[in-house]
Amino acid sequence: MFWTDRADRPVETDPLRGECAADLVIVGGGFTGLWAAVQALEEQPGRRVVVLESGAIGTGASSRNGGMLDESIAHGAENAHSHWPDEAATLIRLGQENFYQLRQTLIDHEIDCDYRPASWLDVATEPWQLDALEEGLPILRASGDIVEMLDAGQTSTHIRSATFIGALLSRDYGAIVDPAELVWGLQRLVVEMGGVIHEHSKAVSFDDVDAQMVVRTSGGAVRADRVVVATNAYPGPERSMRRHVIPVYDHVLMTEPLTEAQWAAVGWDGWEGIDDAANQFHYFRRTADGRILWGGYDASYHFNSSVDVRHEQSDAVHGLLAAQFFTTFPQLEGLDFSHRWGGPIGTTSRFTCAWGTKYDGRLAWVGGYTGLGVAASRFGARVALDLVDGKQTERTELAMVRTKPFPFPPEPFRSAVVALTRKSIQRADANQGKENAWLRLLGRFGIGFDS
Ligand SMILES: Cc1cc2nc3c(=O)[nH]c(=O)nc-3n(C[C@H](O)[C@H](O)[C@H](O)COP(=O)(O)OP(=O)(O)OC[C@H]3O[C@@H](n4cnc5c(N)ncnc54)[C@H](O)[C@@H]3O)c2cc1C
Repeated sequence: MFWTDRADRPVETDPLRGECAADLVIVGGGFTGLWAAVQALEEQPGRRVVVLESGAIGTGASSRNGGMLDESIAHGAENAHSHWPDEAATLIRLGQENFYQLRQTLIDHEIDCDYRPASWLDVATEPWQLDALEEGLPILRASGDIVEMLDAGQTSTHIRSATFIGALLSRDYGAIVDPAELVWGLQRLVVEMGGVIHEHSKAVSFDDVDAQMVVRTSGGAVRADRVVVATNAYPGPERSMRRHVIPVYDHVLMTEPLTEAQWAAVGWDGWEGIDDAANQFHYFRRTADGRILWGGYDASYHFNSSVDVRHEQSDAVHGLLAAQFFTTFPQLEGLDFSHRWGGPIGTTSRFTCAWGTKYDGRLAWVGGYTGLGVAASRFGARVALDLVDGKQTERTELAMVRTKPFPFPPEPFRSAVVALTRKSIQRADANQGKENAWLRLLGRFGIGFDS
């Protein structure tokens, strides 16, 4: 995988062997788990924190993503307004604070992850997409975002494609990073702060023994006061999470480095995070070594919420992505792709993460950022710590935290519902964005499907 195939990747830590005690066990070593460890140790230096990761740190979505940071903790201002109009302003402020604090941690601890402040460009390829982008302007402006609509000519000053008929530009919104370097930087920080990380240590069970939690792996067990479950899309031992968070595979291509002439043909000098405004959308960005990352479009769900390395590669899906890349940028015809991969996105029916507690609040789980979790995972982890420590904060009082997304039905209905919804979304994209009766029904209940 492009981000992690490097000689300077950290040496793997030892698996858990035997029994040990901790104040807090964190299960899952992606962004959520690592941010939970960092914030727990910031808040209470000396706290005995153990992170258990079933593979290597960052094995999941955290080192496989586009590295495009969105400031929102609620999957965008419009999603916040549609679900929680009364607390949307608070969610937007908390997202901005989270984003600022994330950046501050990177600066304070010299985590070099090729962080580049960015603008976001939502490009439209059809008139109905332009209308939809324009409709969202008032909410974005009310949120304090500096946004403007661009026509085709103005869009081409950012990036050139004959398919782009206009765009929404959000200036100085978010950032882009190298996700693997961010994962590894957080991993280093956890260890420097005194946390213990065991890789290749899959948690297989949680037990409440004499008012303490015992987390077992195949090689050992940790007895702890508190547990945070940060397994996101993976089917972990905490079953209640699986009803609300399902895995959806997203696929990515990375090009070879472009020549100067190819960059000139694309006319892309900035560091914008770009996506297109269809329901089935692509996202793309530049890399430090002069490539284009191109991902998205066909989010695939596998029966019984299966997470398996076999779902990461698909000739059909990667082939379609490649064809769409050259439809968008015919001037790059002949450019090769050096890497292709996929990864599991934890999706909820309301597109934001969800939280839950068990064992009288001694265990909290969080996950389901639905494709926008690079920054929001820090907030998700912060709230999970509040919950597991029994703290009442502004965050824990949010309706977004207190309520759960509409659950996905069990199989075989789950597969059928996801398939019907994906098909309906495809049809809507092909039909000027017009939603069929099924999508309208879901919309009435605030339910959706996205990657
Ligand atoms: C292809 C792709 C592109 C994306 N692009 C973007 C983007 O550009 N911007 C953005 O904001 N978001 C993006 N995302 C989403 C983002 O990557 C995630 O929201 C975020 O990484 C979630 O972090 P996490 O720690 O919650 O989950 P993960 O990174 O998936 O971590 C969960 C970890 O738990 C471990 N685990 C599972 N079960 C167990 C167990 N039983 N015991 C121990 N460990 C266990 C897994 O191995 C995994 O490492 C993308 C995701 C994908 C897949």
